[in-house]
Amino acid sequence: MSLADLHCHSTFSDGRLTPTELVDLAYRNGVRIFALTDHDIVDGLPEAFETAARYDDFTLIPGIEMSTDVPGNEVHILGHFIDWHDDAFLGRLRRLQESRVGRARLMVERLVELGKPVAWERVQSFAGDGAVGRPHIALALVEAGHVSSVNEAFNLYLSRTGPAYVQRDRLTPEEVIGLLLGVGGIATLAHPRELLAAGNLESLLEQLKGAGLTGMEVYYQDYLPDEIETFRGMAERHGFIPLGGSDYHGLGGPQQREPGNIPLPMEPVEQLLELARERGALERARVAHAR
Ligand SMILES: [Zn+2]
Ligand SMILES: [Zn+2]
Repeated sequence: MSLADLHCHSTFSDGRLTPTELVDLAYRNGVRIFALTDHDIVDGLPEAFETAARYDDFTLIPGIEMSTDVPGNEVHILGHFIDWHDDAFLGRLRRLQESRVGRARLMVERLVELGKPVAWERVQSFAGDGAVGRPHIALALVEAGHVSSVNEAFNLYLSRTGPAYVQRDRLTPEEVIGLLLGVGGIATLAHPRELLAAGNLESLLEQLKGAGLTGMEVYYQDYLPDEIETFRGMAERHGFIPLGGSDYHGLGGPQQREPGNIPLPMEPVEQLLELARERGALERARVAHAR
């Protein structure tokens, strides 16, 4: 178990636990430096900070995970220590959210045209507080009896090549790193395994380094020791802080790890905190009082 976990999701995106439940669970697991990093949204942070205030030996880092696109792949970028009250940043997130809702509505319209109608209200209710997306449309398709499983919904209708698919607004990793740096954040590349499999990770890292990327997830979820070694070597070659997190969603599954159940050592975490201190961003975290 690690004292730190820098990547977790709550009900404000696609996690199953509320920010309060998540902070309490992380604390119970021994985590003392924690980041809430919901997808493209910061609305869970007030509740997380309120809960974190119950513990006098707990540091909560305000964070976010943002989706970006490169040709043929999706790249997720984590932002830590962001100034999440910034009006321009909040406006950008709101526009992203609106375009996500607009896109989901378009997909629902296509399904009607395809003779597989689902109710928009059902899609919304599956999404709950979270950002509406294809998984919620898939659940509505299952409920309506058009398909027998979420997988089938994706295979027949919602995949990139499916007849109901609508492309989302695209952001490049450089744009997102720029957004995060603009609010004083520290940018880290999330879960690089898929990108390694795609074969162009080294050149992407070089490109993102130039854009201002600082960290790279190395101690992630179910990564095996040899994968960790590979990614740690890459991080070292490119001068990235080797960070990590459980990416806990509370959804179960074989790769799921509890908050803190990752082999993230404290040295890179201290480097992150030191960088935040240098940039005057440390005060954005609720920093534990030394006991
Ligand atoms: Zn991700
Ligand atoms: Zn995540």
